[in-house]
Amino acid sequence: MLIRNATIVDVRTGELISPGHIQIEKGKIIALHKGQLSESLANDLNVIDASGKYIIPGLIDCHVHMVWDGSDDPNSKMANLDDELIAIIMTKHCEETLRLGITTIRDAGSPGKVGFAAREAIRRGIVAGPNLLISGPPIVMTGGHVHTLGVEADGPDEVRKAARQLLKEGVDFLKLMASGGVYTEGEEPGSPQLTVEEMKVAVQEAHKKGKKVAAHAEGIAGIFNALKAGVDTIEHGNLLSEQAMDIMIEQETYLIPTLMVFKRLAEAISGSNTPGYAIRKAQLIHTEHFKNFKKAVEKGVKIAAGTDGNSPRLPESMYFDELQVMHELGMSKLAVLQAATIYAADALGLDDVGSLEPGKQADLLLISVNPIEDLDIRDKITMVIKDGKKVR
Ligand SMILES: [Zn+2]
Repeated sequence: MLIRNATIVDVRTGELISPGHIQIEKGKIIALHKGQLSESLANDLNVIDASGKYIIPGLIDCHVHMVWDGSDDPNSKMANLDDELIAIIMTKHCEETLRLGITTIRDAGSPGKVGFAAREAIRRGIVAGPNLLISGPPIVMTGGHVHTLGVEADGPDEVRKAARQLLKEGVDFLKLMASGGVYTEGEEPGSPQLTVEEMKVAVQEAHKKGKKVAAHAEGIAGIFNALKAGVDTIEHGNLLSEQAMDIMIEQETYLIPTLMVFKRLAEAISGSNTPGYAIRKAQLIHTEHFKNFKKAVEKGVKIAAGTDGNSPRLPESMYFDELQVMHELGMSKLAVLQAATIYAADALGLDDVGSLEPGKQADLLLISVNPIEDLDIRDKITMVIKDGKKVR
């Protein structure tokens, strides 16, 4: 396949290659051509003419929950469903996500074997879906944050056993709950949960296998604990302090900010289907969260895009609102685009996605505007290509 006459956006530098042509074979980019194209090359291939279109790599969301549907209280909706049905639901949400132009997602919590089933269905081509990285059930202290999706473990020995078990089953990364959160009743975002000692053994086990560790950490005590344990990404990071930011810079820890979900919860109407406890807690930390994110951008903390997609009041399509908010809070449009592609790939430890270069997966989007000038691209994506195949 040859996509010709486009303007290719080099997300590494922000440079535009125009006219640019991308040659694809067996799902991979094999060459980028610039300028005049030899007609013999064009004659031999299945050609898509992309005149007037910009091409960027497929977008990456580093934090989603595909078992949920982004409604007011998605967890209660699946409370009485069997895992078999939840797996089918998750697969459908993955397919919808790919159609948005999000070609890689990291799912940060699904019960039992549900995530494995969805990942396998996509791998086998039974359904179209993004590259799906799964944590399976998060490791959580007994009664801790979103324990209904998690595996409960207490003390370093139990956490080590849980970590080894998940790694044996084939998860792509481990998710640890380092603090309380908004969307579980009876806990506070500021209260720490898994201890440093507990998280340390999980990090050891994951790193031994070359896998990353993500920590849900909203309050500062949980953030410090997770950083001491050596996790790779801080998820949410609402109550980050400058001292914690300095440690993140020093340890090269990524922040996955998930800004919009807290704003949306804080703005929910009490008495609606959104649980009142979640609204109350989001209101407590949402303003601080935005302020701290702005500071983290100024200081130079590494940032990768992640939304908590399909959590309460945050359907995955709001990914594009998340990008806008990241820009409004101080990141340049190019920096946001990088956080959504090349840096997101780096945060997840993936070297075959996130940019348009020979050897990488042919996951890419055709857009009718230059995203470095106009980041509001949700309705301007005219084609989604995954592994060299047209999705829409
Ligand atoms: Zn989450």
